[in-house]
Amino acid sequence: MKRKTISSSNPVYLDNNASTPLAHGVADAMAACLKSNFGNPSSSHVYGEAASQAIEHARKQVAGLINAKPEEIIFTSGGTEANNLAIRGSALRFKSGHIISSCVEHPSVMKPLKYLEGLGFKITYLPVDKYGIVDPAVLKKLIRENTILITIMHSNNETGSIQPIAEIGKTASSSGIVFHCDAAQSVGKVPVDVKKLKVDLLTIVPHKFYGPKGTGALFVKRGVELKPVLYGASHEKGLRPGTENVCSIVGLGKASEIAEKELPDRVQLMKDLTGYFYNELRREIPGIRLNGHPTKRLPNTLNLSFPDIQGNILLEKLKKEIAASTGSACHEGKHKPSSVLKAMGLSDREALSALRLSLGINNTEVQIRRAVKSIAEAYRNL
Ligand SMILES: *Cc1c(COP(=O)(O)O)cnc(C)c1O
Repeated sequence: MKRKTISSSNPVYLDNNASTPLAHGVADAMAACLKSNFGNPSSSHVYGEAASQAIEHARKQVAGLINAKPEEIIFTSGGTEANNLAIRGSALRFKSGHIISSCVEHPSVMKPLKYLEGLGFKITYLPVDKYGIVDPAVLKKLIRENTILITIMHSNNETGSIQPIAEIGKTASSSGIVFHCDAAQSVGKVPVDVKKLKVDLLTIVPHKFYGPKGTGALFVKRGVELKPVLYGASHEKGLRPGTENVCSIVGLGKASEIAEKELPDRVQLMKDLTGYFYNELRREIPGIRLNGHPTKRLPNTLNLSFPDIQGNILLEKLKKEIAASTGSACHEGKHKPSSVLKAMGLSDREALSALRLSLGINNTEVQIRRAVKSIAEAYRNL
């Protein structure tokens, strides 16, 4: 696994759940495409064929990463569009119906659900336990005659907690209900196998696993029907009109191929580095508390509450040393506690004291030591 480090005077990048740098080889693959592969993939001449072949190659690479068939991959402009296509595309085949989701989903799932609610669809938002995890037995009981869709994320972007997707998949498939999973934070970080999980629709976001931004994919299991959310020509089996973003799709393919090959190494590296980070921080600041499940979690994510301080103030003090995030959204200069942490039962105070530190494959032990030292110092000075 090839890793690169940014100059050591820059803040240590610990915000890999927001976005990641490109994996080694992705930029070259994209640059080669940008320089020469300019044809419209829908054109029937050789220039068009070259572009179309590049897309079909990427489709195979993406499918390989999640154990799907190439024809089950639909390219989109990113995770947000993939989630919209999955959710609105499933629901709008009907005039009304019931949808089950959770209260810790990403805005790109929540907002389409709110939109559908406005149209008269009924949505049930499953609660989560103190670790941020839904109970599949509770979900099972919520299924109604008219339930048309279940949408639950694979892992949470703020805490890294992983949901019992395979169990939910079993329930969904035996009840004949379409099951969508937003796996934006999991694909390329932990094994994701659409057959084992029994999902019908799954969202893939390359810029969260060392691929390019502004492109993404939706796995659509063979036989699952969707209505397009954009109307136009017949690209991507009529599900996503518009000339394809060829070279970004090439980057997504390359990032997927590398991820598939490197996955076991990545998991181990992230477990080791993140474990080391957590243990060292706990030694320096004994009162910190880990938000999220202790074991059912992404190997790279630490969401930590720091006693008696505000996460955004700590982060501000650390600006020159680390680049990370708080879970809280900033509205008009006021910090609101994260709704994900609140759903897990944290008080406003506890939720506002959280930092999300998300590691990536380019982080080194030297960087983590520097981060521990600077976080501990800044904390004591507050
Ligand atoms: C990043 C992310 C998305 C959306 O991806 P975009 O690239 O911003 O469209 C969706 N869901 C989760 C959980 C994410 O982390």
